[in-house]
Amino acid sequence: MSSPEGAPQDVIPGNLLKGQKALVTGANSGIGRATAIALGRAGADVVVNYVAGREEAEKVVGEIASFGVRAAAYEADVSDEEQVVAMTDRMVKEFGTVDILVANAGLQRDAPFTDMTLAQWQKVLDVNLTGQFLCAREATKEFLRRGVVPEVSRAAGKIICMSSVHQIIPWAGHVNYASSKGGVQMMMETLAQELAPKKIRVNAIAPGAIKTPINRDAWDTPEAQQDLLRLIPYDRVGAPEDIAHAAVALASDLLDYVVGATLYVDGGMTLFPGFATGG
Ligand code: NAD
Repeated sequence: MSSPEGAPQDVIPGNLLKGQKALVTGANSGIGRATAIALGRAGADVVVNYVAGREEAEKVVGEIASFGVRAAAYEADVSDEEQVVAMTDRMVKEFGTVDILVANAGLQRDAPFTDMTLAQWQKVLDVNLTGQFLCAREATKEFLRRGVVPEVSRAAGKIICMSSVHQIIPWAGHVNYASSKGGVQMMMETLAQELAPKKIRVNAIAPGAIKTPINRDAWDTPEAQQDLLRLIPYDRVGAPEDIAHAAVALASDLLDYVVGATLYVDGGMTLFPGFATGG
């Protein structure tokens, strides 16, 4: 799924996250997959969470293991409290702890406002917002139990919430999705404020348009791609690796003083490109 224009991967230092244990949700596809692989390349042991598609998850595990680190695929629906608790407990039992959570799992159920069913609204909020709440809560319990281990990281834990440019850009026809990401922004900032004194860093990444299955309609014909590029000053659609590299940096001690920030990785999509001429 990576595009030929995507960022190079061999620049990641293999010892950047050495000895750390990372959990990536929705890691058998798209951004989660690329992030899990990049974290493994950076030296972390990685749990690849998936809700459906075990085969893809096992492929990701195989790719990560080729870097000489440990990886395993765990099935869990992030919107189900019992399953999230069980997944985190299992990771602590089998990997020893959790140092990094990338709360990435997400989906869309699009509809014009008056056609949107309560089920469509609820599903997106359950997975995109409540799912991040549950995973962050369980990971935080483990960070607090363990505390800082200076040989591993300056922080007791790092949480990276996968948001979207739609945490600030309204998106007609996607009120459930945009509301979920707006919620992620405020959840992330509130958690960052609450947990920073405990040496837990909570941040978010807001991707722009990244080529993954979630938005295939927006890029898989030349016409659609042309339309999309009008919104992207940097003039290329993003690759999953563009986001994965931001996650590696945010998870590492290189960015230890970054707390409660949203890193927009969007080729300039949030720069009001409509104003580049005129306005
Ligand atoms: P994707 O569809 O390739 O991946 C989404 C992953 O989440 C899949 O593995 C899916 O199985 C998983 N998932 C869905 N429901 C789940 C559940 N209940 N429990 C566990 N896993 C579940 O799409 P993607 O583009 O890689 O999306 C990843 C994240 O990035 C999402 O949060 C999405 O909102 C965000 N994002 C994507 C883009 C983009 O342009 N692709 C832009 C902004 C934000």
